[in-house]
Amino acid sequence: MNYYDYIVIGSGIAGLYSALLAIESGSVLIVTKGGIEDCNTRHAQGGIAAAIGQNDSAELHFKDTIEAGDGLCDEEAVRILADEAPDRIADLIGFGVPFDTQEGEVALTREAAHSRSRILHAGGDATGEYIEVTLSEQVRISPIKVLEYCLATEILLNNGRVSGVKTIDFRSGIIEEYACKFIILATGGAGRLFKYTTNGDTATGDGIALAYNAGAEIVDMEFFQFHPTALRLPGVSPFLISEAVRGEGGVLRNDEGRAFMTDYSPSGDLAPRDVVARGILFEMRKTGSDRVFLDVTHLPATKLATRFPRIYRFCLDHGLDITRTPIPVAPAAHYLMGGVRVNTWGETNIPGLFAAGETACTGVHGANRLASNSLLEVLIFSKRIIERSELEGQANGGRPWPAETYQLPSREPYKDAPALVLANFQSMLWDKVGIVRDVNGLYRAAITLSAWDRILPVSTDRLSYELNTMLTNARLMTEAALLREESRGAHYRSDFPTPSDKWKKHIIFRI
Ligand SMILES: Cc1cc2nc3c(=O)[nH]c(=O)nc-3n(C[C@H](O)[C@H](O)[C@H](O)COP(=O)(O)OP(=O)(O)OC[C@H]3O[C@@H](n4cnc5c(N)ncnc54)[C@H](O)[C@@H]3O)c2cc1C
Repeated sequence: MNYYDYIVIGSGIAGLYSALLAIESGSVLIVTKGGIEDCNTRHAQGGIAAAIGQNDSAELHFKDTIEAGDGLCDEEAVRILADEAPDRIADLIGFGVPFDTQEGEVALTREAAHSRSRILHAGGDATGEYIEVTLSEQVRISPIKVLEYCLATEILLNNGRVSGVKTIDFRSGIIEEYACKFIILATGGAGRLFKYTTNGDTATGDGIALAYNAGAEIVDMEFFQFHPTALRLPGVSPFLISEAVRGEGGVLRNDEGRAFMTDYSPSGDLAPRDVVARGILFEMRKTGSDRVFLDVTHLPATKLATRFPRIYRFCLDHGLDITRTPIPVAPAAHYLMGGVRVNTWGETNIPGLFAAGETACTGVHGANRLASNSLLEVLIFSKRIIERSELEGQANGGRPWPAETYQLPSREPYKDAPALVLANFQSMLWDKVGIVRDVNGLYRAAITLSAWDRILPVSTDRLSYELNTMLTNARLMTEAALLREESRGAHYRSDFPTPSDKWKKHIIFRI
């Protein structure tokens, strides 16, 4: 059968959860470019936020989220996020996700910029893995059809409405077209654009390029969150050292062993992510080092091993006993706040095309994501997508955002561009479109990317397809970062270090 009511692209939490809801309403195909469990969701550690604690409320969760978003959150979307969180957590428990408990109650921890302990976790610091494994098992026993190692390469339209998806199966090389009524893009983030990232190798921004090429609006691409603490060991991938480690008392120290974060913020080690990431970057520059240290040696060893089993084990496997030795860390690209613009029902501007999860921009994160809100966002808006798809006619999808719409500029040919290879691309993005940006670096990146765009080879395999996709993402990100002449949330311009009221609006790109 080549027709499905729903085609879901991706099999992280957004893809699996939407598919499990959609199968109640029609036939469902999941197309995913790796094995079913290859995704970022599997790597999530800290947990998932919901105001379910005794002294907590949806109002406090709303306020914390708005504050982190630095003036650019969609308040209606955040209200929905905070209000509906407890019900969606109950749904997840219904699917079998075993959240950790303490004395019979769901255990809640606190993370930076949350005013209350409201983070649920599973398997200590293995929340994402527990969610991914539980949901993929549910999918396996359901009538949902799953195509693994199959990459979506094009969204097909008929009279401006979604009509299907073009795919390539990497094992056989076969190109197929599948027809459908609805597409749910659930392709995840774009951390692989950068040299250092906590993201897995599926995170190449495919959904954003697919949607952009089909005519969808792409928004807030300049807002990319860099996690302050990823393991920095030679030859080891930048494994995430969760924020919860600082939440539980971990202290950042420089090369000389001095705790430095209060030099950068009165909140010290618990300052918002972007402040800590910049603090670490400036400290590394000052001391001429490529890392700082996260010190947990003063915390009880048994607590570290039970509360952070994955981190403890990963470090130990790489010769580092964190109960005795401070952990070498440095910032790494982590989470894309921007993406395919959707309303509060997950709808894009293309009829029949929905987006969920990290590839979507619902407006709940604004200019900076509050930790542990992203897994929650997936549950809230995936549910609304399926509800919306069951209705005919117009939905009230929220108020329009204050925004300017642009097209990617065509830049002057640039003859001395370095060779287009992945390592050059990722280093350039890290250096010039990373944690601290300025006009010179951004302009140099913009003309290099535009030059590369002209010489891109035709995509024939997964790597060349992903390079193509990443280039589109990088152009959208760099041009948006150039336009936004201010610093706000995760976007920091050293030449415009403060926020500007003029820029209290979103940047949208559309073909
Ligand atoms: C190390 C780490 C720790 C994190 N910790 C937390 C946390 O504690 N709490 C929290 O809320 N968030 C956390 N996050 C963020 C959160 O995990 C992600 O935002 C979330 O899991 C994204 O889910 P997703 O389903 O949108 O994308 P993913 O889980 O990345 O899934 C994307 C899927 O799309 C597939 N795909 C991509 N392109 C294509 C294509 N062209 N064709 C077919 N398939 C495609 C991929 O193979 C994959 O299956 C963390 C992220 C990382 C990297």
